[in-house]
Amino acid sequence: MTSPRYDAPMGVDDGWVELGDRVFVRRYSFYDQNIGVVLGDGEALVIDTRSTNVQAREILADLRDLTPNPVTIVVDTHGHFDHAYGNHVFRPATIWGHERCVTFIERTGEARRAVIAREEPALAGDLVEVVIDPPDRTFADAATIEVGGRAVGLKFLGRAHTDHDIVISVPGTEVLFVGDILENGAVPSFGDAYPMDWPATAAAIVPLVGDGVVVPGHGDHAGRDFAERQAVAFRSLAAIAQRVHSGELTIDEALAEQPFSEHPSEDARYPLKRALAQLRGEAR
Ligand SMILES: [Zn+2]
Repeated sequence: MTSPRYDAPMGVDDGWVELGDRVFVRRYSFYDQNIGVVLGDGEALVIDTRSTNVQAREILADLRDLTPNPVTIVVDTHGHFDHAYGNHVFRPATIWGHERCVTFIERTGEARRAVIAREEPALAGDLVEVVIDPPDRTFADAATIEVGGRAVGLKFLGRAHTDHDIVISVPGTEVLFVGDILENGAVPSFGDAYPMDWPATAAAIVPLVGDGVVVPGHGDHAGRDFAERQAVAFRSLAAIAQRVHSGELTIDEALAEQPFSEHPSEDARYPLKRALAQLRGEAR
């Protein structure tokens, strides 16, 4: 789930962009979301499936620009609706995700369908037909899968935006898909986040990007500098939260210092609140 009331900048919907050998990204204007594709011999892998059957079918239609071959593998970066509610449209493809992606979707999927329909009225009608369909192949730390003779690496780097975000690499290219661990042009979403773990997870991304390209869940793809800047911001939030927790700063002093004050939610305190909840052992 991206931050609420996200305003997508213009310039999205420009079609597929090849970031590495047969590795593509496409930015959809709804939530300015990135969908990734890896083409192998005779088959294709899709990274994230969007919010509804209608949106997922749009991916399939757009894929005809790239290949006549079927999508045999889907990878969910995490279980938020905008990344996983389109899953069922891709069956009988295999769907991969972190093992806690499955428990997250089983725990939250149905309840959130109603919440999202209220928050995003434009989706309400289309959400009715969504079949919530979690990954059927999972892993805990890392997995290497294969699409049409080429390897694709899946890795869990630690808790961040959720407790089950994964990153996807394609050996032989310098492209890394990181889901909503990073967002470009929007404040990251903290609703299910672990802000005290997020700095280490974001920092672990930086060397994996190297001189290559990092594709966030939302917003333009970017380079290592972007990943570094976001890691610094997460570290700053966690440090400030720690100082509030230890009584060194008041909430108001912390809010003046914290790096996500431009949060579009009515409650700009949320990132800090969530960090404090985690420090008190109350985040789940
Ligand atoms: Zn998300």
